[in-house]
Amino acid sequence: MTDLKPILSLTQDLISCRSTDNRLDQIVKCLDLVQVSLKDTGLDIKRLDFEGHPALVATKNTKSPKIMLCGHIDIVEGDDEQFKPRIDGDKLYGRGALDMKSGVAVLVAAIKEATTKNQDVGLILTSDEESGGFHGTQAILEQGYSCQVAVLPDGGKAAHRIVQKAKGVLWVELKAKGKGAHGSVPWQGENAIHKLIKAIDQVQALFASLEDHKHDHWTATCNLGQIQGGSHTNQVPESATARCDIRFTEHESENEIMERLKKSLPDGVMAEKVVTANMTFTPLDNPYVQLFMQSVRDQGREPEITVDYGSSDARFFSERKIPVIICQPDGDGHHGKNEWVSIKGIQDYYETVIRFLDAMHARK
Ligand SMILES: [Zn+2]
Repeated sequence: MTDLKPILSLTQDLISCRSTDNRLDQIVKCLDLVQVSLKDTGLDIKRLDFEGHPALVATKNTKSPKIMLCGHIDIVEGDDEQFKPRIDGDKLYGRGALDMKSGVAVLVAAIKEATTKNQDVGLILTSDEESGGFHGTQAILEQGYSCQVAVLPDGGKAAHRIVQKAKGVLWVELKAKGKGAHGSVPWQGENAIHKLIKAIDQVQALFASLEDHKHDHWTATCNLGQIQGGSHTNQVPESATARCDIRFTEHESENEIMERLKKSLPDGVMAEKVVTANMTFTPLDNPYVQLFMQSVRDQGREPEITVDYGSSDARFFSERKIPVIICQPDGDGHHGKNEWVSIKGIQDYYETVIRFLDAMHARK
C-alpha cells in the first residue's frame, strides 16, 4: 500500500508557493522543497538558470538516463485563497493542484523510490512552461540532456488517459497601414482600423466556424486575442495591429497556413509570425509507450487515448523523436478558479508510474 502522506504534503507545500514565473523567490522555494526532499538519494542535483528562469536536474552521473521524469513548477496567477490548499472529500483544491504540482510531487516520490531500486531514472523540473518552455525544457535538452523515454504529467486529466497528439501553435500579428487625417475630413486619409477589420474577417473565414466545432475540435482554430489602433476619436488612424492565436493539426502545416493567410489579406495589411510551436506526437506503437499502457492496465484501468488542444513542453521531446508519455493524476479546472486533483487519482498515477519504472528496469 502506497504511503500517500509525503506526496500529499509536498503537493500542498508546493501549492502554498505563489510560483508564477515573475516571482523568482517562490520558484526558488519550490525547487528548494524538492531538493530537500531528494537529499540522501545519492542523486547528483544541479540547479540551473536560463535567463532568470531556474531549473533543477537530478540524475545519477549521467546526462542521459533511460527515463526522464519531467515537470514544471510555475503556475498561472490565481486568487489568494487558491494558494491555501484545501481538501474536500477526495478532491484537493488549489492553484497548480492539477497543473502540475501534484504531478511534480509524484515524480519526486517516484525517483526516490527508483533510486532505492537502482533504476536508471532522472528528473527535470523547470519554471517557464507557462511562458513557452524555451528557457526551461528546451534549454536543458540543448545542453545535451536526453533520455529514451520521457514521462510528463501535464495533460490528459486522468492517470489512464494518454495524450497521443497535441496541436501546434502559430501566433500571427496583423499590421494595417493607413494615412492619417483629421476626423472631420476622412476622405483625405486611409483608415487603418477599417483595413484591419477587413483583414481579420478574411483571416477568420479561413478557419472552421465555431458552429462546426460542435462536432469536431481536431481542426485548426484562430482566436483574435489582441487588437490595438488609433489614438484619438477625431483622427483617421494611421496604423492598427491585431494578434491571432492559431492552433493547427497535422492536416495543414504552419507554413501552409501562413501562406494561405497572407494571400487572404487586403492591400496595406501585413502578417508576421510572432510565436510558433510544433505539434506533439506520441507514437502509440513505441515499446516504451506500450509498456506504460500495460502498467495502466495492471493498475486496473483500461488506457484511453486522447488529444490535447493546448501545447506543452512535451513538444521539445517530440521534436527530438523521444517518445513522451503524457497523462496525469485525475483532476480538472487547470488555469481556472476551481482547479482540483483527485487524491485517489494521485495514488493511481503514482502506482502506475512505479509499475512502469519497474517494468522498464526489468526489460533491460
Ligand atoms: Zn502545465
